[in-house]
Amino acid sequence: MSLIPFAPPRIDDEIINEVVATLKSGWITTGPRTKQFEKNLSAYNGNAATLCLNSATAGLEIMLRWFGVKEGDEVIIPAYTYSATANVVVHCGATPVLVDTNADDFNINVEAIREAITKNTKVIMPVDFAGYPCDYDAINALVNEASIKSLFNAETEEQKKLGRIMILSDAAHSLGGFYKGRRTGILADVTVFSFHAVKNLTTAEGGAIALNFSEPFNNEDIYKYLCIYTLHGQNKDALAKMQKGNWRYDIIEAGFKCNMTDIMAAIGLVELTRYDNDTLLVRKAICDKYAVKLSGYSWAELPPLASQSAITSYHLFPLRIKGINEQQRDQIIQKIFDFDVSVNVHFIPLPMLSFYKNKGYNISNYPVTFNNYSREISLPVFYNLTDEMVDRVLNAVVSSVEAVINA
Ligand SMILES: *Cc1c(COP(=O)(O)O)cnc(C)c1O
Repeated sequence: MSLIPFAPPRIDDEIINEVVATLKSGWITTGPRTKQFEKNLSAYNGNAATLCLNSATAGLEIMLRWFGVKEGDEVIIPAYTYSATANVVVHCGATPVLVDTNADDFNINVEAIREAITKNTKVIMPVDFAGYPCDYDAINALVNEASIKSLFNAETEEQKKLGRIMILSDAAHSLGGFYKGRRTGILADVTVFSFHAVKNLTTAEGGAIALNFSEPFNNEDIYKYLCIYTLHGQNKDALAKMQKGNWRYDIIEAGFKCNMTDIMAAIGLVELTRYDNDTLLVRKAICDKYAVKLSGYSWAELPPLASQSAITSYHLFPLRIKGINEQQRDQIIQKIFDFDVSVNVHFIPLPMLSFYKNKGYNISNYPVTFNNYSREISLPVFYNLTDEMVDRVLNAVVSSVEAVINA
């Protein structure tokens, strides 16, 4: 029997043909396909403007810098996330303020956010863990409370215009998820998606900034500025310079270089067209089957998939095993791999990683995060995972868990 992988991308003829068409079109970097993909994403999510980039990480950092986040500022993030969420704060010279997460849905705890807010807090970055949206009503209400707003120290033009802490959603997992009937791209001031190879919708590498600022901001103007800011600060992109005689350009600031190419966008265009009516249906069916089968075992703690307020994008299936410790979890994973089934752990909490540990963050301050992490095993979820493979995964998980907890 061959190894069941964890999350291979779905690369079929439709994708290959669109990539080849792009290669043959004579335009391979940022151009018509990227612009079309941006428009399609805005239509999908219902936000005013979307900028595509080469990663979600770039998108998060660009938005922190756009807001003027710098040394001395604080950005509140969950302790339980991928390192990118924290690294971008460090890149800006600011301090990531880690807070604990919820026992049930793995997401950032809103009361813990409240306790962490100081006069230096500039941004909160909620992460929709596994694709299940955070409690955005509570987070948005919190930053609009009079006492919290009066604490906010607006230093830049953008900060003065917003007049409060910015909500920058790390939605790397949650494209297509819902919160109270609304898609993830319109739940915060700005939302960043990832199209990395393992994510629900991929462009190999890639990401997008979904702009959703309220008045007096003009999202179209921010979009135009960000196009320049993410392309060297050059006032004309390569496509515009191609037009006859249109060679002269200017550099208005020392910008970054993190644009999406049309080759990437070609993959994304195909992926988005079939996202709701195909990709998400298949992912949901896999997760539902895991949930139904595992609910028969008293040791299984299932992840939230759909509730009154939120519906996941079915990015991950983060199973937890009741009553085990970290060593037992690791033993179970080893046994599952012995059945030729790939699983994963999402994530190693930030305070347990060398760089953040050395900065003084201590996992004992995040007991809920540690408890969830120590019992967590993510099961494979991908488009080409067949029913027969789902059964193999379930057999491997059940046998491995029972062997360890009955030992
Ligand atoms: C994947 C991921 C990112 C980074 O996405 P890239 O597109 O690879 O930069 C950020 N945050 C979380 C939670 C992720 O899982």
